[in-house]
Amino acid sequence: MSLRVVVVGGGLAGMAAAVALESAGAHVTLIEARKSLGGRAGSFEDPQTGEILDNCQHVLLGCCTNLIDFYRRINVLDRIHWENTIHFIDAQGHPHSLWGIDGLPAPLNLAAAGGLFGALTLAERFALARAMLAMLRLGPSGREKLTDVSFSQWLADHSQPASLIDKFYELVLVSALNERCRDASAAYAIQVFQEGMLAHASAYRMGTPACPLGKLYETLPCKDVRLGTRMIAIQFQSPRAVGIELGNEIIKTDAIILAVNYPALEKWIPPDLYKQDARFAKLDQLQSVPILGAHLWFDRPILSTPHAALMSGPMQWLFRKPESDGRAVHGVISAARDWLQRPKEECLELFTQQVRQTFPAAKEAKLERGVIIVEKRATFSPTPGVDHLRPTQSPPPAGISSLFLAGDYTRTNWPATMEGAVRSGYLAAEAVLNRPATFIVPDLPLQWPARLLAKRPT
Ligand SMILES: Cc1cc2nc3c(=O)[nH]c(=O)nc-3n(C[C@H](O)[C@H](O)[C@H](O)COP(=O)(O)OP(=O)(O)OC[C@H]3O[C@@H](n4cnc5c(N)ncnc54)[C@H](O)[C@@H]3O)c2cc1C
Repeated sequence: MSLRVVVVGGGLAGMAAAVALESAGAHVTLIEARKSLGGRAGSFEDPQTGEILDNCQHVLLGCCTNLIDFYRRINVLDRIHWENTIHFIDAQGHPHSLWGIDGLPAPLNLAAAGGLFGALTLAERFALARAMLAMLRLGPSGREKLTDVSFSQWLADHSQPASLIDKFYELVLVSALNERCRDASAAYAIQVFQEGMLAHASAYRMGTPACPLGKLYETLPCKDVRLGTRMIAIQFQSPRAVGIELGNEIIKTDAIILAVNYPALEKWIPPDLYKQDARFAKLDQLQSVPILGAHLWFDRPILSTPHAALMSGPMQWLFRKPESDGRAVHGVISAARDWLQRPKEECLELFTQQVRQTFPAAKEAKLERGVIIVEKRATFSPTPGVDHLRPTQSPPPAGISSLFLAGDYTRTNWPATMEGAVRSGYLAAEAVLNRPATFIVPDLPLQWPARLLAKRPT
């Protein structure tokens, strides 16, 4: 008889676990409280217009090997649009770009664009090149030793100028980590550059879905998906979790994967079991960081490139909506703690001013409509030492056997991202089956110039 598994939570972590387990022959039931799949990386219907809007623009990079594998498994990889050029706009409104030369291995592919990157002074470009070399030489093992160090400390130790931090590091990292350099662990910050730029030529490519996020999951290869179904309790026969209660049904199961976000965990587990299971001991120390997303519709095209990284704020990134001529855009502010209490009208006024100042063609542009979504608990903060707080997917000795965790906050060696969520789902599925390395896809390999510069053998 096949193993019966209930996965609670239809975000990327839960979906990845469910799809992986089903592919291995398990009998899976996926429970999602909302009417659609995707969780934080999902979509909703705009009550005013009926248009399907994303919770927020989501971006992946070529180095997201497990997310790409998940998209392949659910047969939507062809809906991801890849960009080889990253477009920046400086404080004076001048465009700059980073592009890789096709056919050249990393990091040589980005060297020419980096050398010519006019948003930085020559001295800043040299400093950046020095830091990149130092990061390459660290390798993954050197990086892991920096988990308890802040990235701003590492930047100071490597004599990186304040102007370069403002113009480049903050902009890249705030979107990748949802945290400022001073608050982010050096290990996670360096990982962004090591794996996202330096290791492999396809790693830096930026992917965005060419359809609303929610559409990607519509044909999930999982037979028993229950949408609009909220788990109301977990049944325990101490120390095992043996079933879940829905409104009018109890599902008995061999294993439960709890793939809900961490602030909700405590309410599902009786206090004595919660205390006994080491996975929950430090969860209350994880800090959540907000992200602001703004859907903006202008009366004329304002953005001619598919996206723009804005080197002066308040919006940090703008994305042209798929199939739009540049009138409909999505703006993002990460690490948006200062934006939690701002009235919507004030935000829209500031964003319109920024658009008018940044894009010459938009000097007279009028905002026709704006929808602002501030996700208070967008991600956990990747602070120095955060890995000591993150739980494993499988139960520790004396933990609740048959209760597995998945979610971007669990221990994946990745920050809170779609890739981290999928990894957590695959790791949870592997743990349930008790089979190591069945689903996890390895990182992109270091290409030869990167290996040579890192002075490391194959
Ligand atoms: C605004 C914003 C922008 C982001 N941008 C990016 C980006 O550009 N790139 C990137 O890689 N990452 C980005 N992220 C991070 C990414 O969205 C998350 O890391 C990832 O989606 C987390 O997935 P998850 O499955 O771990 O959790 P969630 O998506 O939170 O899934 C948990 C699910 O559990 C369900 N649930 C909760 N309680 C119950 C219950 N009792 N019964 C049934 N179901 C329940 C919830 O409805 C939810 O669907 C962003 C996040 C936000 C919020």
